[in-house]
Order: sequence, then structure tokens, then C-alpha cells
Amino acid sequence: MTRTNVNRRDFLTHTAASAAALGLATPAIAQNAGGRVVVVGGGFAGATCARALKRLDPKASVTLVEASETFTACPFSNGVIAGLRDLKAQQFDYKKLGADKITVTFASASQIDADARAVVLNDGAKLAYDRLVLAPGIDIRWDALPGYNEAAAERMPHAWRAGEQTLLLRKQLESMEDGGLVVISAPANPFRCPPGPYERASLIAHYLKTRKPKSKLLILDAKDAFSKQGLFLGAWKELYPELIEWVPLSKGGRVTEVDPKSNTLTTEFGSHKAAVANVVPPQKAGRIAETAGVTDKTGWCPIDPVTFESKLRPNIHVIGDACIAGGMPKSAFAANSQAKGCAAALAKLLNGEKPDEPKLLNTCYSLVAPDYGITVAGVYTPVNGQWTDVKGAGGVSPAKAPRSDRQLEANFANGWFNTITGEVFG
Ligand SMILES: Cc1cc2nc3c(=O)[nH]c(=O)nc-3n(C[C@H](O)[C@H](O)[C@H](O)COP(=O)(O)OP(=O)(O)OC[C@H]3O[C@@H](n4cnc5c(N)ncnc54)[C@H](O)[C@@H]3O)c2cc1C
Repeated sequence: MTRTNVNRRDFLTHTAASAAALGLATPAIAQNAGGRVVVVGGGFAGATCARALKRLDPKASVTLVEASETFTACPFSNGVIAGLRDLKAQQFDYKKLGADKITVTFASASQIDADARAVVLNDGAKLAYDRLVLAPGIDIRWDALPGYNEAAAERMPHAWRAGEQTLLLRKQLESMEDGGLVVISAPANPFRCPPGPYERASLIAHYLKTRKPKSKLLILDAKDAFSKQGLFLGAWKELYPELIEWVPLSKGGRVTEVDPKSNTLTTEFGSHKAAVANVVPPQKAGRIAETAGVTDKTGWCPIDPVTFESKLRPNIHVIGDACIAGGMPKSAFAANSQAKGCAAALAKLLNGEKPDEPKLLNTCYSLVAPDYGITVAGVYTPVNGQWTDVKGAGGVSPAKAPRSDRQLEANFANGWFNTITGEVFG
């Protein structure tokens, strides 16, 4: 474990009892200093929140705890799988956050001592907080799909957390003979990036069409409907006729079991032996959220939509994929928007003020081919304790549009990725 910019005052080596006895969990604001905020998870949600809070409230002491020194972004990783870009283009470091006077601690948070208001790191060190932000992203539900476990993922990659898994899937496609069957298994809602499996299918189809044209791609789906469905299906008919087959839930698409030895995926209607199998499994909030006691029986974290504070534990806020965000999808765009809303709420709460009700945004771009982009956008506001779609404020790309418009949307997608990663890490 290495640490940069470590502020020794933030580390408590006392036990919870002695910390409480010493009054270390007393809000620092009461002592007229800046409030202490610890953010766990330096992805699109956590890194954004740390930076936004430091800008809004420079006297706040902000510590970001992140397990890895290199962040590998999922958006655009489907392009890596399809051989259109390098994994390096997905990777970012935290140097600029340190320069913003955020204390960046490279460690894994292993426990939350909510009573003592401290984060316990994997080496046993403790970080005290007045407010904690959990932004750990997702974990795979390894117990949800019979036959699928961590060992099986080495044969049937999920590639749903970018990095080695992304490269493994790419390598498998590269080694596959022309004429092979690629099978993608898509999970039921909710999961990270609702249009992601279909963008992936599209870009793999682009790879097959241009490099291995006798091959086929089958999507086995645990749902009957998916994000931007009409646009994807229309584009597949235009770009990849006969290449992609989508099997919805009602036609027996749900995968009930996998066998990594034979690379077979079984549904209620039969079995499919794949040359390359990409299993996108059911998911849940990142493990630390469960450990902290902020997940409910769904495996995700219920929050107040104005403050992002957990409905289960006070002083712990949850943002990004891990939280239950009502109508908002689990996307990097949404995570970034929630993070700014959460930072604004924290800046108020730390100073004893009432947070304003924010409006949040999301736009999900998908590439159906390198020069063919489609979009869904939404605006969200709290209604009855849930983020709710503002009617008429969002929408999807037109069903019929000239190819020049699709090209423009592909350009916007590229522009968005550069902008958001610049804002979060640059
Ligand atoms: C194939 C694919 C394509 C996608 N495309 C898009 C897209 O085009 N547009 C879009 O908006 N979204 C897209 N997404 C979704 C997007 O990647 C996620 O919604 C986004 O990453 C969520 O951000 P987050 O901060 O919640 O989680 P993450 O970005 O996963 O960040 C979580 C961070 O927390 C760290 N962490 C976890 N637990 C601990 C711990 N205990 N201690 C310390 N650190 C910890 C992790 O190391 C990680 O860095 C895509 C996803 C996939 C899989």
C-alpha cells in the first residue's frame, strides 16, 4: 500500500473505543476547522465528488481512498475489445487530485466503523470523518449464475470492470477462427451501463464484419426490452444484417447456467456452445457498501435524493453505480452528475446549512460502429424520495436520421469521453 499527500492528522490508529473516548469522531466543524470528508472510491463518482467539494469548500479536509493507482475507465472499453483503441487510452492517474490539495490514499477500505465515524484501511489504519462518501462502483454477484465464478471468468470473461478482463475478451476474439459463434449473455435490470451489452455487441459485430465475416453473434438476454432498443435494432438491420441475433427473455434468452469447460451457455430453451463467450453477470454495489451496512436486500444502496445520505446509516453518503438512483441509469455521466450534487449538499451540511434540491443529468452515448453514434438523455428531479425523470426534458436520437447525423453523434461521444475524463482526472 502506498500513500501520497498523506495528512497524518487524518489517520487514527486508536481503537473505536479510544477514538470515541478521545472525542475524535466529534465533527471538526464544531471546533471551527474544516469538516473532514473521506471519499472511498476514486472513479467517476468519487473523484468528481472529492474535487467538486474541495472547490466549493476549500477549508474542508478531503481524503480520497482508492484501491488502485491507475484508474481504467469502462466507457469506450468496448472499443478496446473490438480492436479500435488501446487500453492505455482508458487509463488515468490521480496526480492532479493531489495538486488540488486532496489527500489521495492508495489503499483498500476494508471496514467502516460507523459509530466511531472512521474508515478502516486494509493495513488496519483508521481515517476519521465527519461525513463519509462511498463510491465503490459495482461488484459481481458471483453466487447468482450457476457455473459462473471467478475461475469461470478467466474462460468466459465478463469485461464489466475494465482492465485485464477487457484484454482477455479482445484476445479471445482475435484468436477465434472465422466462422465462430460469439455469445453475449446480458443480465436483468438493474446493472451497470444499461446500453453497454448492446454497444458491445455492435462493436464486436463491426470487428467480425470487417475481419471474420463468416462469424455470428448471439445475444442471450434476461430482459424483453433494453435501452435505445429501437435504435440498436434499426442500426443492426442496416449495418449487420444476418450477423447479430438477439434472443429476449420471452423467447428463452435468459441464461440459467454456464459451463466454462465446454464454453456452453444454457437457457430454459437449450444450450449454446460458444467459440467466445462474454458473460455479463448480475451485479450489486461494491463490497464496502455491504460491509458498511448501507445496502438493502437488493444489494444496492437506498439514499435520500437531495443529500445522497444513506437511508440506513447517518453521515454516510452513497453515489455512483452503488446507489439506488430511481430513474437514473448506472452510468459514468450519472455518477459524475450525482457527485456534483452530493458535493454541493456536503458543502452545505458541513456548514450547518440546508442543501438545495438539485437537478441531475444523464446522457448515454453508444457507438454502433466507429462512425455511428446514438444517444439517450434525461433530466432528473427528486419526487417522493426518488430520482424521477422530468417528462419531456430528455429523449433519444431520432429513429430516422441521415448517416451524417450518426457520424456527428459518434463525434459527440468521443468529445464527451475526453471532457469527462479531463474533468475527473485532468
Ligand atoms: C462496457 C461498459 C461501457 C460503459 N460505457 C459507458 C458510457 O459510454 N457512458 C457512461 O456514462 N457510462 C458507461 N459505463 C458505465 C460506467 O463505467 C459506470 O457507470 C461508472 O464507472 C460508475 O462510476 P462509479 O464511480 O460509481 O464506479 P467506478 O468508476 O467503478 O469507480 C469505483 C472505484 O472505487 C474503487 N473502490 C471500490 N471499492 C473500494 C474500496 N473498498 N477501497 C478503495 N477503493 C475502492 C475502485 O477501485 C474504483 O476505482 C460503461 C460501463 C461498461 C462496463
